[in-house]
Amino acid sequence: MRYAVISDIHSNLEALTASLNEIDKLKADRIICLGDIVGYNPNPNECVEIIRQRNILSIMGNHDSRVAELEDAGDFNLQAARAVYWTRQVLTPENREFLSGLPRSRFVDNRFLAVHGWVNDTDQYILGVNDAQQNFNLLKDLKKSPRLCFFGHTHVPVAYMEFNSTVEPAAGETLKLIKGVRYLINPGAVGQPRDRDPRASFAVYDTKASEVSFHRVDYDIQSTADKILEAGLPERLAERLKLGW
Ligand code: ZN
Repeated sequence: MRYAVISDIHSNLEALTASLNEIDKLKADRIICLGDIVGYNPNPNECVEIIRQRNILSIMGNHDSRVAELEDAGDFNLQAARAVYWTRQVLTPENREFLSGLPRSRFVDNRFLAVHGWVNDTDQYILGVNDAQQNFNLLKDLKKSPRLCFFGHTHVPVAYMEFNSTVEPAAGETLKLIKGVRYLINPGAVGQPRDRDPRASFAVYDTKASEVSFHRVDYDIQSTADKILEAGLPERLAERLKLGW
């Protein structure tokens, strides 16, 4: 079984389409989305509809919950909040309904856990080894105690491994999963990468080979940036796409 794991699409239609084209070429059996389908960029309806039409298994991100008005956007920075209010205005009732119904986490085929931020909190960021350690502890406390968990939210591709209560980052474009080791893996962001590489980012988990590979794809950033300005969204949101930051 090959799972493509995508996250943080953020209404970026060009990045989502380019990523799905590449995922189709890689012949993934199933696609999982770690949340934040909307926010920041100009095509929320198109992105939600692709997720729905392609039966991509998704969970709720912090932007999804604000856009669906399950939570207030008062704690967001100005640009993120402006994008939330803009998205609320243009999103269709059906797509809003879809976002409100997303779960905060999912066990996928009894193989791994999918979360957006922390294991127990959509809004918190896993930013380093200490955060990872706390999340490995949270995973152990879960009934199913999964050995593999995918998370998003930071928009930076990264992997942490835990063995004998020691946590360290795991490097490489392909990560061979070792028995007895626990993993927390972030596939990076499709729609707004923040590791200074502007290309869309995602991961593929191959259960047979027992490995996770990281992938990057080019997309038409200029089109997305032009649409951000046309929509009246903050200019900074267009600039940051080009910087990958
Ligand atoms: Zn995000």
